This record gives sequence, structure tokens and C-alpha cells, in this order.
Amino acid sequence: MNQHVMNATAIKELVEVYQAGSHHMVGDGFPVRNMIPGVGGDEQFSPFLLLDYMGPEHFPPTNRRLGVGEHPHRGFETVTIMYQGMVAHRDSTGSGGVIGPGDVQWMTAASGIVHEELHDKAFAARGGTLEGIQLWVNLPKAFKMSKPRYQTLVSDEVPTVDLGGGAGQLRVIAGEFRGQRGPAETFSPVHLYDLRLKAGHQTELTLPEGFNTSVFVLRGPVVINGSQTVKEAELALFGHTGERVVLEAKEHATLLVLSGEPIREPIARYGPFVMNTREELIQAAQDYQVGKMGHLS
Ligand code: MN
Repeated sequence: MNQHVMNATAIKELVEVYQAGSHHMVGDGFPVRNMIPGVGGDEQFSPFLLLDYMGPEHFPPTNRRLGVGEHPHRGFETVTIMYQGMVAHRDSTGSGGVIGPGDVQWMTAASGIVHEELHDKAFAARGGTLEGIQLWVNLPKAFKMSKPRYQTLVSDEVPTVDLGGGAGQLRVIAGEFRGQRGPAETFSPVHLYDLRLKAGHQTELTLPEGFNTSVFVLRGPVVINGSQTVKEAELALFGHTGERVVLEAKEHATLLVLSGEPIREPIARYGPFVMNTREELIQAAQDYQVGKMGHLS
């Protein structure tokens, strides 16, 4: 066996387990635990800029429109993954819609978009539990000023791979797993999986060397690589060397697996804008103020 093959089959070392950096409200409708970047530097998670875990939280019936009103984004993508409840979205390109459990909204803000994110009207009227994740995925410099785009990936479009042996299922949101490709089109290589592992079972994932790889536990706990226990609402970060990650569920587990090729470019961020330089941030704020990112109709 040569050195290359040995490396390719090596275990990816778990280097750190993070808890939420902060608990806060986004607007008046989304209580979140911030995992990225609250927990560390940008470099170790790139291209993922932010991971907010919303809820799970029960909301009593209301006719109020809870959520986040009109606001801009430029220079990256927002990805909303729903587990419970329904969120309605509307943006300045005229796109919009409602996403519920299993659905994913992949919004490429790129050169600029203005949108609102609210609890769906019917969901709010019934009341219920809201649970989801919002990820911010950076764009390479070459695509930061490209045209905004909106991909709604409804639950049925996300391929489900049976893990075999009754271990559970893995839904491929982006990238590839065991020959199945996810529907999300990305600007840099990303694997994003919604993994459901049954209690007492284990599975093994193969993820590229050199990619920034982490696993967020929504339901757990899970034992990683046979030794370290990672609990609910914790994020496990892996090293770049090796390809194999072994996950064992103690209880029925729900995990989000994130693995992406790092974008090795400078990051300048301010609020809803993520660019490469301070000058570009100032330009973004000006462009928003004069209406260049559009308005909600
Ligand atoms: Mn937003």
C-alpha cells in the first residue's frame, strides 16, 4: 500500500467540539444559537461564514408577522434548512415562497438582494414549533457581484440515500454521497448532508482531504470516531488530513454535515455584507441606501 492510499483511508481527526457562541433573537421571530462564527475564526470554516440554529421553540398562535423585515445582503449565499414549522420569504427580485420541514431555500445574494424572512401566516395562526438552520456560504471573489439567484429545493427534490443495515438515511442537499448528487448548485465545492442516524447504529462518511469539515448535532448525542461524545447543539470540527468520519448514534440522531473547499481570499464583513475589502463594504452600504439592491414590492 503506498502513502497516498494510506492517507486516503485515514480517519479525519476531530480537533474541537464547540458550543454556541451566543443565544440571541434574529428580528422578533427567530431565537438562534450561533455556532459559526461565534465559535472561531473564519478560516477553519470557510466557505461557511455563519451557522445559526433556530429553535426548536414553540410559538403560540398569533396573527402578528414575526421574523425579520426588509434587509439586504451582498457577497454571499444564505441557505435556510427547515426541520419544523414554516417560514415565508419574499425578495426584491420578485421571488418568494414558503418552506417547511425538509425544504431548503438556497438564496444567492451575490451583487445584492433585499428580502424579508417571516413565520408563514398559516403556521403562525395555528401556532407550533419552529426549528431550522441558516447557513451563510461565502462566494469566491469572482462571483460576489454576479446576478442574484434563488433555488427552492423542496423536500422531494433532495435525494435520500439509505445507509444500509437499518442505520438510517442521508439526504444530499449539495455535493455528492455514494453516487447521488444533491440539487443545490454551488459556486465552490460543497458537500451538505442532512443525516438521520438510528439509535444504536453507526455509519461512516468519506469527505475530501483539505476541505473544512464539521458536523452539527441537532439531536444526539453521537460518538465520533469511536471516542468523543458530541451532544445536542454542539459542533464538531475536523482536521484537514484523512477522509473518514465514523458516527455512532446513542439516541436517534439528526446531524448536519458540512464540508467545503476553503475559499482562500480576504474576508471583510459588516452586518449583512461580506466582501473582500473595506472599500467594497462601504460601496455595498451606499448601493443599498440608494436602492441599487432593489425593494420589496
Ligand atoms: Mn436575510
